[in-house]
Amino acid sequence: MDQNPVSVPAERVAILDERGRPYAYVREVECPYCLAVHRHGDRLGHRVTHCHDIPASRPKVDPRDVKRNAGYVLCEPTDDVDWEAERLRARIPVLLNTYRRLRSEVAGPEPTSARALKVRAATRQQLRQVEGILRAAGVIK
Ligand SMILES: [Zn+2]
Repeated sequence: MDQNPVSVPAERVAILDERGRPYAYVREVECPYCLAVHRHGDRLGHRVTHCHDIPASRPKVDPRDVKRNAGYVLCEPTDDVDWEAERLRARIPVLLNTYRRLRSEVAGPEPTSARALKVRAATRQQLRQVEGILRAAGVIK
C-alpha cells in the first residue's frame, strides 16, 4: 500500500488570551483518516495523526480502521496541492481496512438469534457498499 504520507491543508489558528489577544498559534487539520479535527503545533511538515486522542463518543470512522496510517504532511492551505486527490489517497487505505474488518466479521458461522442476524445483515450491506467503492476505484478486483 501507498505509505507516502498525504499532504493536508493546515489552517493557522490563534489561541487567544482573556483579553482576546493571540498568545500562541496552532495548526488545525481535518484528518483525512478519521475525519475529526486535530490540532498540532505551529510548524509545517510531517506529523503522526492523533486519531485516538479524540473522545470516542461518536467517531465518524471506526477507530480500528485508521490504525497504522502513514501520518500526514501539514502544508499551508494556499500551497498548490490537489487537496481532494490527497484526501482520497488517505481514504483508500482506511476503506481497505474497513473492508477487511467487515469481511472477517461476516466470515464466522451464521448467528442464531434474530438480533444477531439483523446485525449480520447490516454488516453485509455495509461490506457491499465498501466493496463497490474499492472495486470502482480499482483497488480490489
Ligand atoms: Zn485522525
